[in-house]
Amino acid sequence: MTDPLPTTDIAATPPRIAPAGFVEKAPLERYVPPDKPSLIGLSRAALSETLGGVGVPPAQRKMRVQQLWHWLYVRGATRFEEMTSVSKELRAILDAHFTPARPEVVAEQVSVDGTRKWLLRLPSEHPGERPHEVECVYIPEADRGTLCLSSQVGCTLNCSFCHTGTQRLVRNLTPGEIVGQVMVARDRLGDWTGKAGLRDLRAANPNAGGPELDRGTPSLPSPASGGGKETGNGGGKEAGGRLVTNIVMMGMGEPLYNFEAVRDGLNVVADGDGLSISKRRITLSTSGVVPNISRAGEEIGVMLAVSLHAVRDELRDELVPLNRKYPIRILLDACRNYPGLSNAKRITFEYVMLKGVNDSLADARALVKLLKGIPAKINLIPFNPWPGTRYECSDWDQIEKFSEVIFDAGYASPVRTPRGRDILAACGQLKSATEKLSARERLALRAMAMTD
Ligand code: SAH
Ligand code: SF4
Repeated sequence: MTDPLPTTDIAATPPRIAPAGFVEKAPLERYVPPDKPSLIGLSRAALSETLGGVGVPPAQRKMRVQQLWHWLYVRGATRFEEMTSVSKELRAILDAHFTPARPEVVAEQVSVDGTRKWLLRLPSEHPGERPHEVECVYIPEADRGTLCLSSQVGCTLNCSFCHTGTQRLVRNLTPGEIVGQVMVARDRLGDWTGKAGLRDLRAANPNAGGPELDRGTPSLPSPASGGGKETGNGGGKEAGGRLVTNIVMMGMGEPLYNFEAVRDGLNVVADGDGLSISKRRITLSTSGVVPNISRAGEEIGVMLAVSLHAVRDELRDELVPLNRKYPIRILLDACRNYPGLSNAKRITFEYVMLKGVNDSLADARALVKLLKGIPAKINLIPFNPWPGTRYECSDWDQIEKFSEVIFDAGYASPVRTPRGRDILAACGQLKSATEKLSARERLALRAMAMTD
């Protein structure tokens, strides 16, 4: 596509749907960074202070914060003028200084099973530098809808099997950019309370954009046909009627190396009077940043997933080089002491299946032994290959045998999808060179989204 994407408010100008097979990108020179800071992602205290900065008197601030919080996080307002319970005068002041903007959606890719991938553009840190891009993926299931969020552009760690680790550029996302990913998803899915979403618009006008998914149709595909119960495999809707019910921090980046922003962002996401996604339904995945594991339990209180991937230090040093700093024993001690850990609140251990590397049955038995005494779940992730990688995914028969050893040791079905050979994990290597959202990738994303 040579046609540039608009840089205006996405509510007014929906982004185009990429033709099948790739995600459309706008030419970078057309990018216009926001001239006003967004209010998204501020804590209530910071929001109150910000309001003070534009002259809202102290006695009014609590009430104003309450109002703004509701408009932003319950109603999903994208413009201050929508906030009718806020005085006209204050709306004008807010509009002069701030925006309720989320990250800009560069492209959206929707698959027949309802899986959606958004390419989001974030401002660069330095003038003249190219803007950054991250991806955010929505994976609907019958009983939940899981959003896979990024915490950094790129990653400072260099896990040898991970494509993100090969990217040169790294920048931490701000709390607003983390919260903004959830808001983009709710915008695009029509998942706000009391606001006409795509779902409602389409019900009123069935021609407003049909289910021409993955076919390059420059209209908005229907969440109902792509992700609703109607498809039989893409529900994602449950009690409360919300589509986004779960979050996994399994996109780009190491969340515990961007601790404060992830903490602050997730605390906004979990706020019961706002986006209201319970901490029991948020899973943070770490490669093993030991000093921040207990902090995550104490200051964030979300579910923990640990990328273990090997049972011996020698091999883990190679796969997850951070192991040289925090070896397996130290990592597992931190897991044992994870605040709030219990049989009802287990740690998920992720284990990527690499052919001939870590997939022997002896490894499976050692894994079970290693995790003894830790309330744990095990998530086997079939390796998702990328161009230039030296690894291959284990054969499916081997994954099944490995999984049996784990199952026999009392862990619930560690390979979480019956779709067998089709699975390929992808969360961990978002924004890969292969931008295609293939059937295999979609199924894999599902496997990774099943953290409970
Ligand atoms: N940095 C964090 C979270 C992002 S990666 C972490 O490492 O845990 C999310 C998960 O995807 C991790 O378990 C990671 O090891 C895994 N992953 C990365 N690349 C992968 C690939 N090519 N195939 C399968 N899983 C991969
Ligand atoms: Fe970073 Fe996680 Fe990839 Fe390792 S697996 S390079 S920690 S994103």
